[in-house]
Amino acid sequence: MNLRIPGPTPCPPEVLAAMSRQMVDHRGPEFGEVLKQVTAGLKRAFRTQNDVLIFTCAGTGGLEAAVVNTLSPGDRVLAVSIGNFGERFAAIAQTYGAKVTKLEFEPGHAADPAAIDEALSRDASIHAVLLTHNETSTGVTNPLKEIAEVVRRYDKLLLVDAVSSMASVPIEVDGWGLDVVVSGSQKGWMVPPGLAFVSMNERAWNAYSKSRMPKFYLDAGKAKESADRGQTPWTPAISLFYAMQVALQLLERDGWDEVFARHERCAQVARRGVKSLGLQLQADERYASNMVTCVRAPAGVSVSDLRKALREKHEIVIAGGQGSLTGKVFRIGHLGLVNEEEIEAVITALREELPLLGFAPLAAAQR
Ligand SMILES: *Cc1c(COP(=O)(O)O)cnc(C)c1O
Repeated sequence: MNLRIPGPTPCPPEVLAAMSRQMVDHRGPEFGEVLKQVTAGLKRAFRTQNDVLIFTCAGTGGLEAAVVNTLSPGDRVLAVSIGNFGERFAAIAQTYGAKVTKLEFEPGHAADPAAIDEALSRDASIHAVLLTHNETSTGVTNPLKEIAEVVRRYDKLLLVDAVSSMASVPIEVDGWGLDVVVSGSQKGWMVPPGLAFVSMNERAWNAYSKSRMPKFYLDAGKAKESADRGQTPWTPAISLFYAMQVALQLLERDGWDEVFARHERCAQVARRGVKSLGLQLQADERYASNMVTCVRAPAGVSVSDLRKALREKHEIVIAGGQGSLTGKVFRIGHLGLVNEEEIEAVITALREELPLLGFAPLAAAQR
């Protein structure tokens, strides 16, 4: 199967093989060494000298950790939302009692730094800003560096969902002053689902010491204290740590610059390809994601029929739409373990199947 969804992504055979290794004592020296190596690799990838904590949970658990470890019930929070994952981050904060003000943008648009500047200037009581870096539901990557500059100027805490962008596009956690940054193993890291990574700088730890939201499993203080002893507070998904150790070696062997360049090349193949078929991107192309391409379904073509045809006749799995875009778009994942040929194969299959479903791609492109 050519699994072209925006996570979980396919995994290299070396990573899968690592997961078949025997268990070790998670309180013993072997696991301590694995944890140390994975943490060091993550810190290099995040471009941070500060802490990166590893939780056994989905990416959403990492987002929840970001919220409960830095905020208190009643805190005013500005949740910048450009799609489904922005909504989720806001919903987590709301669930734990934060007073959330939403700043929303149309699906396909990036967040405007000037609008965030305006929102922060209007309300001095805002404590923190929640931001999705790459909005996987619309295929848009926000201008994180520019937005971080604005948030820094107002000295607010910045919590970043980089679940689907970290390890696929450059992010300077320390250089851009990002306080808490979250990623997840099943996206750019080429590892199965089950681990979340959360970086915390000094500002984040200061916020932690004042934070009163309830937390137990996801308590960053407990995670840090255990990590310093080569352990995790609770039994970790040991096999996934083995997988991460190998995946980081593979990624660093290629080099991060080449990993980022490969993502850019695959994204260009996807964007050029769908446009050549006469289809339209959902994303404002200036901010189109290098991890996932979100395509508007042509009028009259059923997204579920299209996905079924690709799966059954071409062994290609693409994603449908989420939230308000359900049935209106389909998405091609190109992050993690991916090359240009795999994306070309998706375009070829679309060229073949779309006419059978009532859309004439070539005619549309020739007009
Ligand atoms: C995948 C993803 C998540 C987390 O998803 P889980 O299913 O909880 O692992 C969060 N944010 C973004 C932007 C994502 O793409």
